[in-house]
Amino acid sequence: MRRWTCLGLALVLLFSAIWLPGCAQRPSEASPEGRQPLSGGASDVELQQEEAAASPEGVQAELEAPQPPAVQPVPMTQEYGRSDSYSAQEGAIEIRANHPVGDIAALDQAVLDWLTQTAQAYQAELEEGEGGSLTADYGSYEVNGREVSALVVGTLGGSHANRPRNVSATFNADRETGEVLKLEDLVVEGQMDTLRQMAAQRAGRDAGDEGLFSRWLLTSEGLRLYLDDAAQEYVEFTYLELLGVLLPRLREQGIDPDKPMIALTFDDGPSQNTPHILDLFAAFGGKATFFVVGSRLSAYPDTLSRAASEGHEIGIHTWSHTNLTTLSVEDIKAEIMNTQEAVQQYAGVTCAAVRPPGGSVNDTVKATAGELGFSLVNWSIDTEDWKTRDADATYQAIMDQACDGAIVLCHDLYESTASAMDRVIPELIAQGYQLVTVSELLSYSEDGMQPGRLYRYR
Ligand code: ZN
Repeated sequence: MRRWTCLGLALVLLFSAIWLPGCAQRPSEASPEGRQPLSGGASDVELQQEEAAASPEGVQAELEAPQPPAVQPVPMTQEYGRSDSYSAQEGAIEIRANHPVGDIAALDQAVLDWLTQTAQAYQAELEEGEGGSLTADYGSYEVNGREVSALVVGTLGGSHANRPRNVSATFNADRETGEVLKLEDLVVEGQMDTLRQMAAQRAGRDAGDEGLFSRWLLTSEGLRLYLDDAAQEYVEFTYLELLGVLLPRLREQGIDPDKPMIALTFDDGPSQNTPHILDLFAAFGGKATFFVVGSRLSAYPDTLSRAASEGHEIGIHTWSHTNLTTLSVEDIKAEIMNTQEAVQQYAGVTCAAVRPPGGSVNDTVKATAGELGFSLVNWSIDTEDWKTRDADATYQAIMDQACDGAIVLCHDLYESTASAMDRVIPELIAQGYQLVTVSELLSYSEDGMQPGRLYRYR
């Protein structure tokens, strides 16, 4: 059973910050900006604690009475919006909280509404004449550029006998629709029971326990379920574990030309390993380009049509995987057009790009491809996956060289390559890369994607 208890700083370490690397940087260089516990310096709560420690009585005059007890600040990352402080009186309950203000108004409002409702519920518990307080802090997370989530952790305190106790809540929102998400919105139809069983088993709780899903949070890595009021204990599922249970979320996402992008390309297939790669893109989002060998297509028609229907680009890797520079113009045309016809037959799409076998190109190949209306697309990152046949080596080659505009050469013939993608795809997305097709990538190059021209990167 994977189950963690975390306190304080441990939370910071567990949340990976979104980080946009340049070509010169390496994934091991953590962003210094990404992990500040609170934006804009210390929070009210922190200041209050520091001042109180330095001078127990001195700051009383500056602060309103009655004093709420200092809540332990939760040093969580704040990746969404900016942090603002909020104070309000709700009946006999004083609310003091840090809360997010960003581009999703519904999320911001949901946090404030929760603070108010929590104070009102607490008010109902108090005796006549009793005062109380709610102090709260939060963490916020950019999940994948589209979804945003927040965890709010608060403390309720009273002037009389009420012992301080924790309250917490989670909020998840969709930037595209501007709406706060319900968990049911994200679960594949008929799979809620599966998720319930999975959660109960991992948390060591009964499947009927309503508390299992009362605090759920999307992160860049998966789905997290907080189990206690202080949100210090949780179980987590990676998106890979939730294949077929959670709906893919990135699929309809538009491309932001100002954000880094990478084109993962897979040559020599289709093969029996291609569906696993398609599953990963379906789970994590993003698109790839499959440069297929024409003679293989009749053996994998469903895989090819699935790849095309899920928005991946199909490119041509010739009919017989022959070095095009050794062929006559007529034979070059046949290698390309026979493959195009088979792709059209099985997947109903027209290709725009040819990846010449071995990357071998000469003026004849360029001119012939250009005459037929195709661009030639090689690569800037060679994983050498065909040589190493090692998932770790393939993973490392990509993560070491990843940069904006890169075109990555992989081969979906190999199980090791498909297995490397288990980590490559979520980690590139978590680092802020948009995984795009070569046509998408090159459409953002200076003069677009021109027939007869050879590209290696954007
Ligand atoms: Zn090849």
